[in-house]
Amino acid sequence: MKNYFLFLCLVFLAACNAPRMVTAPRSEPVDFIVLQLNDVYEIAPLEGGKAGGLARVATVRQELLNENSNVITVLAGDFLSPSFLGTMKIDNENGEREKIAGLQMVETLNAMGLDYVTFGNHEFDISDPALLEKRIAQSDFAWTVCNVNYVGENGGERAFLQGDKPVPPYIVHPITAGGQTIRLGILGVVLPFTQMPYLSYKDVNESFRQTLAELKPVSDLQLAITHNNLDEDIELAEKVPGVPLFLGGHEHANLSRYVGSTIITKADANAKTVYIHRVRFDPATGMTNVRSELKTIDDTIAEESKTKAVVDKWLGQVYGLMTDMGYDAEHVVMEMDEPLVCKEHLIRTSQTNYGQLTMASIARAFPGADLYALNSGSMRLDDNLFNTVTEYDVLRTFPYGGEFVTLEMPGDVVSKLLQTGMKTNYGEGGYLQLLGNNADGTSLNGAAIVPTQTYKVVMPAFMAAGNEANLGFLKDYLKDEPVATVKIEGKTVKNDLRDLVIDYMLTL
Ligand SMILES: [Zn+2]
Repeated sequence: MKNYFLFLCLVFLAACNAPRMVTAPRSEPVDFIVLQLNDVYEIAPLEGGKAGGLARVATVRQELLNENSNVITVLAGDFLSPSFLGTMKIDNENGEREKIAGLQMVETLNAMGLDYVTFGNHEFDISDPALLEKRIAQSDFAWTVCNVNYVGENGGERAFLQGDKPVPPYIVHPITAGGQTIRLGILGVVLPFTQMPYLSYKDVNESFRQTLAELKPVSDLQLAITHNNLDEDIELAEKVPGVPLFLGGHEHANLSRYVGSTIITKADANAKTVYIHRVRFDPATGMTNVRSELKTIDDTIAEESKTKAVVDKWLGQVYGLMTDMGYDAEHVVMEMDEPLVCKEHLIRTSQTNYGQLTMASIARAFPGADLYALNSGSMRLDDNLFNTVTEYDVLRTFPYGGEFVTLEMPGDVVSKLLQTGMKTNYGEGGYLQLLGNNADGTSLNGAAIVPTQTYKVVMPAFMAAGNEANLGFLKDYLKDEPVATVKIEGKTVKNDLRDLVIDYMLTL
């Protein structure tokens, strides 16, 4: 069992933060703790119960509260989406069917005792802004962001709302210790990645600079919650110095970087680790000292009962839905040494091992075709799988499932499909995972594509119906309805991406 402890130390001399007045008669150093999570999509432990789990994080938080009553728990974006549960609908309080869309996360994080979040790009996966604002309103924790606004259909722009209050560009959190109070300023920022008609982004660096300038006069020290690429975080820390700690997200593997007087930290996704920052601020000198510890969340940590009750309620929902669909959530279908790669930016720009495994599953069900293609947007996990794969993992990878069809088309259309899928759609959901090394667009399985020759191509019915970006021309070649089942080695298997993958994984 890997159990890694990393200590980072930073003494931040606030050159631009001259010693300032605090609302206290004495001036002793003030200690507080920041508990940091980022990129959490799963409320329950993963990897067969070994890794992560928000009820365990709640226990860690309770232990920290025993150490110091000033614990601030922060999640640096990406938690309302994606998840298998998020795509499902349940009855809401008015008895109407409503997408779950992160409600399971909000309820669990409320129970866990989260204090502050900023938006991640995946919060904007929710296409209905009213539903997003409903989830924000249902949060007991406060949202903050300085560089994105809501735009209405009439073009009117305003801050997102948390209930009847605007989501502020920064928050001032008072910390009282030893009879004195200091004011901790927290500002949030999100990379302008997800495009939605209801979003208006401002420049990350400029918004951050302006907001920090507004925050400094009303606070004694400042921390940032940043949901950026690491490169963007580094650039931000270089261009806008003066914040000792960026509580970062978006990357899913833990990391830390020093950039000038700023330390950037990111924990592992799905709370497999959390960062614990012990901060000492000296009001007399304006000095901030940060000691950071990366803590592994695993089965050696007990589950806090109040949070666990909420997790169990939602797991009952997941398992119930999966049972109704004919799946066994906890059934382990595969074990592996290497992680299966399905991080969104990788699956949409490269042929990953999980993509290849998926394509092999399809080829096994539909043998004898010239080409097998899958739109990468079918693989929604935005994470890598470690150690074991359960049926639940397969469903959260492919929440939409879908049938496959065989199309016959001339070679010039095959070339167009490959060129569009690999080049035009690079970085998008319409980027193709292909079986074998067929990515160059001019040859198939080592032989040049003959423009007039007819080829058999297997693809999702969704793509064949012309629904994928820039691939609408495929529908001219769709002749047959998808078959309901396929025969694989004498066994009847449902013609659904999830069933085909599970059946193949069981043979490995
Ligand atoms: Zn992200």
